[in-house]
Amino acid sequence: MANLNIDSAKERTFDAIVIGSGISGGWAAKELTDKGLKVLMLERGRDVKHIKDYPTTNMYPWEFKHRGVLPMAVQEANPIVNRCYAFGESAAHFFVKDNEHPYVQTKPFDWIRGYQVGGKSLLWARQTQRWSEFDFEGPARDGFAVDWPIRYQDIAPWYSHVEKFAGISGNKDGIAELPDGEFLPAFPLNAVEEYFRKHVKVNYQNRHVISARCAHLSKPNQIHLDQGRAQCQERTICERGCPFGGYFSSNASTIPWALKSGNLTIRPFSVVESIIYDEKKGKASGVRIVDTNTKKTEEFYSRIIFVNAAALNTNLILLNSKSHRFPNGLGNDSGVLGKFVAFHNYSAHIGAEVEGFEEWATDGRNPAGGGYIPRFRNVYKQETDFLRGYACGFSAYRGFKHSYDGFGEDFKAGLASKEYGPWRVGSHMMGETIPKETNFVKLDDSKKDAWGVPLLDISVDYDDNDEKMKKDYIEQLTEMFTSAGFKNIQPSTNHQAPGLDIHEMGGVRMGKDPKTSMLNKWNQLHACTNVFVTDGASMTSTSCQNPSLTYMALTARAVDHAVSESKKGNV
Ligand SMILES: Cc1cc2nc3c(=O)[nH]c(=O)nc-3n(C[C@H](O)[C@H](O)[C@H](O)COP(=O)(O)OP(=O)(O)OC[C@H]3O[C@@H](n4cnc5c(N)ncnc54)[C@H](O)[C@@H]3O)c2cc1C
Ligand code: SF4
Repeated sequence: MANLNIDSAKERTFDAIVIGSGISGGWAAKELTDKGLKVLMLERGRDVKHIKDYPTTNMYPWEFKHRGVLPMAVQEANPIVNRCYAFGESAAHFFVKDNEHPYVQTKPFDWIRGYQVGGKSLLWARQTQRWSEFDFEGPARDGFAVDWPIRYQDIAPWYSHVEKFAGISGNKDGIAELPDGEFLPAFPLNAVEEYFRKHVKVNYQNRHVISARCAHLSKPNQIHLDQGRAQCQERTICERGCPFGGYFSSNASTIPWALKSGNLTIRPFSVVESIIYDEKKGKASGVRIVDTNTKKTEEFYSRIIFVNAAALNTNLILLNSKSHRFPNGLGNDSGVLGKFVAFHNYSAHIGAEVEGFEEWATDGRNPAGGGYIPRFRNVYKQETDFLRGYACGFSAYRGFKHSYDGFGEDFKAGLASKEYGPWRVGSHMMGETIPKETNFVKLDDSKKDAWGVPLLDISVDYDDNDEKMKKDYIEQLTEMFTSAGFKNIQPSTNHQAPGLDIHEMGGVRMGKDPKTSMLNKWNQLHACTNVFVTDGASMTSTSCQNPSLTYMALTARAVDHAVSESKKGNV
């Protein structure tokens, strides 16, 4: 019997455990297995195999029962996730449904999640910009949050490392506030986007319109072919999963790569309930899970643990990892665990009509989505009454002039019209929000989920800074559109709850001082150094650039450190 137990513990022991299989977890698994470690990846959701498990990817619009729109009953049953633009008939199976995974909203928060192998990497819009020196210096300069323990030069080589493997399309634009990367060819701007690019270049100092940078294989390199991926076919139905591996997802890229090494075991249907802390050894010894099929608790052990459950779930797991040494959550000597949560503010838009350019139509579909205007406010000096800044999406488009008038033949002819309508332009704001102690998550005192894990209680809100920034975005873009000659300019703001930008960050922030932060400069818990957090939870501040590329780079960097420290016996 004793032997059997020893065998069982052995079978459950790995060199490293990765919690979560999304964008950051996929990178942790790839880097750890590349370095020869035997890795267990724990994923709460089901398995999703590349190509095989993309049921809608080859469907034509008319093959969907409801032409792509979800029935009202489904929409009404899922008011939170239904607010996400990508929650439609073709991709609903990759989203968490509201009632299956409840949480507490002390303040309204639209928590959009994907619980499956691949996480949200199947659903993301693939916008990938590096953060700049201004972002890592920001808190120290402006006095919000705490100082980052790293600077741009610490992460720059790791951006290069992940960009080369993931495949990022873009131009070298030479803009200090948006550093260039290792790019595949950019997707070109269309005629009106190109007109606006030139207009802004000539008329505005320090403002730029560039081709959006995105994780698509515009022209694959050998390393991408070696992953089994192929050139993007520009179908722009990516949220269904791409059988070509045209965009970066964990399922198409990092996970199959790690599996090929023979060093990765994936265990789906495994909700990580907590990390086990060994009081004698003074470090974490493993992870406790609840099997979602059997509802049984099981334990797995390892020397190194990477927590990559996506920002808020990572907070939940650490808060729920209580021990005699850490009664308030693993590594939480400072008391800041769960606090200083921040997000992005996407709640303002602007549209307009464009006269002319009739000789042009759009040049096919652009998977990058068009143009991008990097942050131009408060970059070199504080020039407004709000802190930090915003980037802007920008795109121009032109559709057919369909008419819905008439009956019979006339009606059909109107619908089938091949006559083009006018060009339109649109932009949306992507604002940085300031991490504050009053924006926090905690465990609910009594409510638990189906697996006995406490529900997460979210208290996160906008503030005055966000309102001022939103006003400035509308003013600046209105002015830029007016000077470009665009007509019928229509700004709009909404009061969407935080969260819908799907860029929640913080709660387990990095910092120099263990008294005010959870993680050191290697994403290692100050107080439990064999546990690494490298997803959005670790962000000290939020930049206004998209975040996932930075999670990838920080993950690869942290793995390198973890493995070399482990070899020295320090982890
Ligand atoms: C529609 C949409 C558009 C987006 N567009 C962009 C974009 O253009 N650019 C950008 O940078 N980002 C974008 N994002 C955000 C991006 O998807 C996330 O930032 C990224 O996926 C986060 O990576 P992650 O590894 O932290 O989490 P995820 O990719 O969400 O993976 C986390 C994984 O952990 C698992 N997990 C959670 N809890 C547990 C537990 N207790 N036990 C075991 N497993 C657990 C989950 O099931 C999931 O598989 C978008 C997201 C969506 C949905
Ligand atoms: S646009 Fe490219 S990545 Fe997206 S589904 Fe089509 S081929 Fe795949």
